[in-house]
Amino acid sequence: MSDYRYDLHTHSTASDGILRPKDLVARADEAGIGVLAITDHDTTDGVPEAVKESVGRRVRLVPGAEISVTWRSRTVHIVALQIDPDTKILQEGLLGIRDFRSWRAEEIARRLEKHGISGTLEGVRKLTNGSLISRTHFARILVSLGYAATVREVFNRFLVLNKPGYVSGQWGSIEDVLGWIMAAGGMAVIAHPARYRLTATKLRELLGEFRECGGVGIEVISGRNSRDETMMMARYAHAFRLRASVGSDFHGHETPSLRLGTLQDLPEGCTPIWEGWGE
Ligand code: AMP
Ligand code: MN
Ligand code: MN
Ligand code: MN
Repeated sequence: MSDYRYDLHTHSTASDGILRPKDLVARADEAGIGVLAITDHDTTDGVPEAVKESVGRRVRLVPGAEISVTWRSRTVHIVALQIDPDTKILQEGLLGIRDFRSWRAEEIARRLEKHGISGTLEGVRKLTNGSLISRTHFARILVSLGYAATVREVFNRFLVLNKPGYVSGQWGSIEDVLGWIMAAGGMAVIAHPARYRLTATKLRELLGEFRECGGVGIEVISGRNSRDETMMMARYAHAFRLRASVGSDFHGHETPSLRLGTLQDLPEGCTPIWEGWGE
């Protein structure tokens, strides 16, 4: 499967994407993607619909998830690829994380209320319609209520560390999450490593621990990476003997900088995560 275009990190309405799983698959197929992973935050609920839509199309669907992890009091995301969603230990683990999400949503709403912003929980509940709640949904509601012009602005003003609606993450541990992924027959990949703004020392510690726990890949190509960041991550992949993954982190908004099917190629010398996936 080496000649295909790959996108192994995307979101649907099962988490904070704006396209339904079937529309995501259709859009990716039309964009010429040959292998697409659906990787919603902390759930595999979108996988069956995506698999069904891929039947009869050129695009192949890889079942996945992007799992929230707490590592040394920070949130780190781990993309799970080629998982069997019908794995009990995986689903129990994801359920625990989603329980924290539900509590956190209430807590975010309480904090915003104290800050004089009411009605956000009702808004996000209506918006998500039973699917999990992410900070992205709060951001969209705050934009629609006129508190900010863009989702990005809401994050910066209300939803990040030291801002009124911030609640610290209490997600899974690296050991536990990698255990669930391996139990489900999947491969674990560190998502968007450049986004954590870790020092070189910390990033090396993270990659070392990740690898020791059974992690196999790192996103060398990520939607918003600069070419310099990509080259840096390729060097880390090499140094830690991790395979290289490619993912846009597409959430459904087509912007010139992030459109499906427009990712950079892997730098020379990387071992792609899909090596050995077969035809
Ligand atoms: P959560 O997992 O609910 O804490 O939400 C994390 C999600 O919020 C990420 O996956 C992104 O989609 C989005 N996000 C995080 N930071 C920002 C930001 N600064 N601007 C816009 N979206 C963001
Ligand atoms: Mn997201
Ligand atoms: Mn992420
Ligand atoms: Mn993502």
